[in-house]
Amino acid sequence: MTQLGSQDLPLRVAVVGAGPAGFYAAELLLKEDISAQVDLFEALPSPYGLVRYGVAPDHPKMRTVIARFDRTGDDPNFNYFGNIRLGTDIDLATLREYYDAVIITTGAQEPKALGIPGEDLAGCYTARPFIRWYNAYPDHSESEFDLSCATAVVIGNGNVALDIARVLSQAPDELAKTDMATRAIDKLRTSKVRTVYVIGRRGLVQASFTHPEITELDKIEHCDIALDPSYLQLDAADRAELEFEDNVQQRRFLPNFEKFSQCTNQAPRRVEFRFLRSPVAIEGDGRVERIVLRKNILSGDAGARKAIATEDLETINCGLVFSCVGYRGEPLPGIPYDDARGTLPNDKGRVLQDGKQVTGLYVSGWIKRGPSGVIGTNKVDSKETIESLVADLATLSPAPRRDSAALRAALQARGARPITYQDWLKINKVEAERGRAAGKPLERFTSVAEMLAVL
Ligand SMILES: Cc1cc2nc3c(=O)[nH]c(=O)nc-3n(C[C@H](O)[C@H](O)[C@H](O)COP(=O)(O)OP(=O)(O)OC[C@H]3O[C@@H](n4cnc5c(N)ncnc54)[C@H](O)[C@@H]3O)c2cc1C
Repeated sequence: MTQLGSQDLPLRVAVVGAGPAGFYAAELLLKEDISAQVDLFEALPSPYGLVRYGVAPDHPKMRTVIARFDRTGDDPNFNYFGNIRLGTDIDLATLREYYDAVIITTGAQEPKALGIPGEDLAGCYTARPFIRWYNAYPDHSESEFDLSCATAVVIGNGNVALDIARVLSQAPDELAKTDMATRAIDKLRTSKVRTVYVIGRRGLVQASFTHPEITELDKIEHCDIALDPSYLQLDAADRAELEFEDNVQQRRFLPNFEKFSQCTNQAPRRVEFRFLRSPVAIEGDGRVERIVLRKNILSGDAGARKAIATEDLETINCGLVFSCVGYRGEPLPGIPYDDARGTLPNDKGRVLQDGKQVTGLYVSGWIKRGPSGVIGTNKVDSKETIESLVADLATLSPAPRRDSAALRAALQARGARPITYQDWLKINKVEAERGRAAGKPLERFTSVAEMLAVL
């Protein structure tokens, strides 16, 4: 029998989700010493996932990885099916008819809630709508944010919280040079927000910020970064935890916080860190007026430090609350899902159903391991998944329908509008032309309809 992956019977793989995990999976598979064809399916016309719609606009260096993804887009053994959502435009059964294996790389799209009273008040948001708004996520740009209050509170001690604090505190003229959505820049010009509190449940040593992001915060012009010096008094367990091999970021950013503790409060804007606080309620008459925080103390050994609630409460008057406490993957029809973790159950990227491998179904990225790590972490993750897939080659059955063009035609016949990578590059070229006219790298389209109109 002809071997899958040979010249006569190339391995056909569908990758679903064109974020970093999807592109790295495609790239690594195409570099394997087998004959392979990879088709990448993406819900939006635009690829790149959170590299385009998560990474903050003032972090253009993070987006240089796009050039690498575009090289994969140019590979003759690669096809792009943009504007095709698994679960709506196509189902798993159809993918299995056309492909020998399917890799799910749909990310973690669902923001976690705080689970406290008042979360539904106007002025309280998860990070996602705000980030999508300033990054011109298609058809989500309609949400408007009322920035007429003086104080915003950002809950969370990861880089996403810092992105929001930075965007709220930076001079709009600086942001105008980036590819931030123009409507967001215009709105930020009218912002009255002058103080942003960044709140963490545990202490400085347990924060998940990275050193470059903290350093960047420090570079914002006309903005004080403040910290109560008492947070720098580390106990023995904290000092021991700081020396853990994994805590390199914390060791690096500690001197930045020492500097923040000497802040002289002179600038018109201010970001202040408050640690050892858990939100317990958001209050106000119809919209956010204040947030109530419970003070915590730390207990437990180094590496297992827990926040223990005290009786002490603190209230911060504010008009905006952003919760940045993580994301979950969304379930997909017909695909096993671990509801507790918000991921697909898997063993080294092989999707499991009731502990047993589902033949030909794989997973990578945030939907595999949860929302952690930087863009490059997804390369390591996809490498593991591709190694599993290649090791399983002999167990895979060749799909009956082996023609990507026929699938594209079938989708079109059903009323879907799949776009190719060439189509995407045309859309992106128009965004760049619009950007040049506006003095920024890109003026992104804010709706799918606008993108498709280019074609
Ligand atoms: C706000 C924010 C800022 C960040 N900033 C940085 C940074 O500055 N530097 C850094 O290194 N890392 C950053 N990260 C982390 C980085 O973006 C992630 O590690 C990475 O994007 C995860 O890759 P992924 O491919 O698993 O998921 P995603 O990037 O989310 O990609 C998933 C893709 O799947 C698509 N999709 C979803 N459902 C379907 C479906 N049903 N059918 C078809 N397609 C679907 C989505 O549209 C998306 O394109 C940031 C993350 C966030 C949330």
